[in-house]
Amino acid sequence: MNIVIFGPPGAGKGTQSKFIEKKFNLYQLSTGEFLRKETLKKTSIGNKISSVINSGSLVSDEIVSDLIEKIISDSKYKNRIIFDGYPRNLNQAKNLDNLLNKYNQKIDLVLKLSVSLETIKKRISERRALEKRPDDNENVAIKRYQTYEKSTEPVIEYYKKLNLLKVVDGERSIDQISIEISDIISSI
Ligand code: AMP
Repeated sequence: MNIVIFGPPGAGKGTQSKFIEKKFNLYQLSTGEFLRKETLKKTSIGNKISSVINSGSLVSDEIVSDLIEKIISDSKYKNRIIFDGYPRNLNQAKNLDNLLNKYNQKIDLVLKLSVSLETIKKRISERRALEKRPDDNENVAIKRYQTYEKSTEPVIEYYKKLNLLKVVDGERSIDQISIEISDIISSI
């Protein structure tokens, strides 16, 4: 099956995607991780990506779409992808539909981790101490949250109308969230 996971920055979508990947033998496609790797290469495109990420905005749809198609078209990953961080706006959601269609696949489940802004601020300051992500300071985190509300929330509505959406309370412990997600996946 193919799963899309949503959540504001700091909601734990990376952590939960890794859990699902292991438990259900799926493949975690994290566009954020891929983009961060690009920035380490210090190429001109890498530097551009870096400044966009550190401003809390979204990287251009084209850059991310190329990556997505590489994975979707690869038979190794057929019907076993967790989309972690994609789609992030309606244009990307339509693009994802088209690409999945092209390779005879579909989305089976959309998960949303819901978390308050207060919790996000707390988690991001904790993560900053551990991972040292340059976009994890409070101002950029607030901007990322605003980008999420403005560009990504409409995508969640889009999947809700298609009856694919399950909302999970992301305020609880990692283990409690994993158990609920696991039950949801097992039931479809
Ligand atoms: P994440 O690790 O998912 O929190 O992503 C970190 C940053 O990478 C985001 O704040 C965006 O700047 C960028 N990014 C990740 N995924 C996408 C995407 N699908 N489209 C555009 N930008 C993205």
